[in-house]
Amino acid sequence: MNGQGYHGDLGGCFVPEILVTVLNELTDAFESVKNNAAFLKTYDDIMSTYSCRPTPLTYAGNLTEYLGGPRIYIKREDLNHSGAHKLNNVIGQGMLVQHMGKTRVIAETGAGQHGVAVATMAAKFQLECTIYMGEVDIRRQRPNVFWMEQLGAEVVPVKEGSGTLKDAINAALRDWSGSASHTHYVLGTACGPHPFPEMVMFFQSTIGREVREKMLIQEKRLPRRIYACAGGGSNALGAFGAFLEDDVELVAVEAGGLGKQTQKHASRLAWGVGSVGVAQGYKSYFLQNPDGQMRLTHSVAAGLDYIGISPILASLWESGRVRCEAATDEDVVAAFRLTAKKEGLLPALESSHAFAQAFQEASELGPDDSIVIIMSGRGDKDIFTVADALEDAEWKRFIIDRGDSYRA
Ligand SMILES: *Cc1c(COP(=O)(O)O)cnc(C)c1O
Repeated sequence: MNGQGYHGDLGGCFVPEILVTVLNELTDAFESVKNNAAFLKTYDDIMSTYSCRPTPLTYAGNLTEYLGGPRIYIKREDLNHSGAHKLNNVIGQGMLVQHMGKTRVIAETGAGQHGVAVATMAAKFQLECTIYMGEVDIRRQRPNVFWMEQLGAEVVPVKEGSGTLKDAINAALRDWSGSASHTHYVLGTACGPHPFPEMVMFFQSTIGREVREKMLIQEKRLPRRIYACAGGGSNALGAFGAFLEDDVELVAVEAGGLGKQTQKHASRLAWGVGSVGVAQGYKSYFLQNPDGQMRLTHSVAAGLDYIGISPILASLWESGRVRCEAATDEDVVAAFRLTAKKEGLLPALESSHAFAQAFQEASELGPDDSIVIIMSGRGDKDIFTVADALEDAEWKRFIIDRGDSYRA
């Protein structure tokens, strides 16, 4: 363990000896580029010409009127190429790979969104790309597997454990232990060993800087509150980073799943269910049994369905700077429907957690206040889940007909 990367008592770097050198090298590489004007300019150029930065801040007039509370603004990370904030981080790490002279990237993916973003980046930068994905997730997320393969990545099924995200992370770490001389591990969120939490937050911090700039133009002052969903915590930290010193309330919204009592959720902080432990290279709050066994998590939003949480976000929560809440699947689907009908926007089910919490608290604030909701990604990827949740009969018929046409 090296002594860096602590946030309060959390964070650190708990990895096998063989990876310590690699992570130290990565820390040095990151430190050398993060204040380098040429590197940052190239990053901005790529993000504005290949993706859609700066992303708009949309005034949600119909929702504002309907809810009768604060003026509501929506930060449009859904307009990034590949449909979510994930590309902000992935392009940054890709440039770092080029800087370090490596030729191959590996990554873990759960729902497949991070895998698609990494495969996209690898194609653009012409890097060899291997994505580790749990066997169960591969079956559940066929469309994303298809796209990763079209983008030139090799998708490796992970059979160990429950065949889901945490097993994919372990497999990627194993690969990296033997391949680090030419391979970089593109971690997808602000978790994992130092320097990943700080590095991922850094590449996502463009979100908060843009929100700040636009609010000062449009409202002439900062918002009262900012709402962001929290899986690993990268879009939340990216948004919150620019406001830590200000009088702005920062609200992170976890996956409340089917509710606290059912244990079928992924709320590590809001409901006081998670406890501090060390796993997957870092110390933070995890959903675990008293003996340290990781529990199974549940969320309608695959991207929030994770046992751990960023040590930086957890530390900000411990200090009281960030408030944590959890939204249930039911409230999330309702928030998705309302946003679609009132604004013509389809937030990802992950992002819809932030919308659900903001809607619930709208009556606490008045028309002189404004709030910002981070729309971390677009929801058309969630058509299978949303159509199921809404029990859409025509959709069901369509799926059955498709199945029949393959059997015929
Ligand atoms: C992956 C994902 C998330 C969760 O990741 P964070 O690191 O918590 O931001 C949230 N929203 C969308 C759309 C995602 O794809």
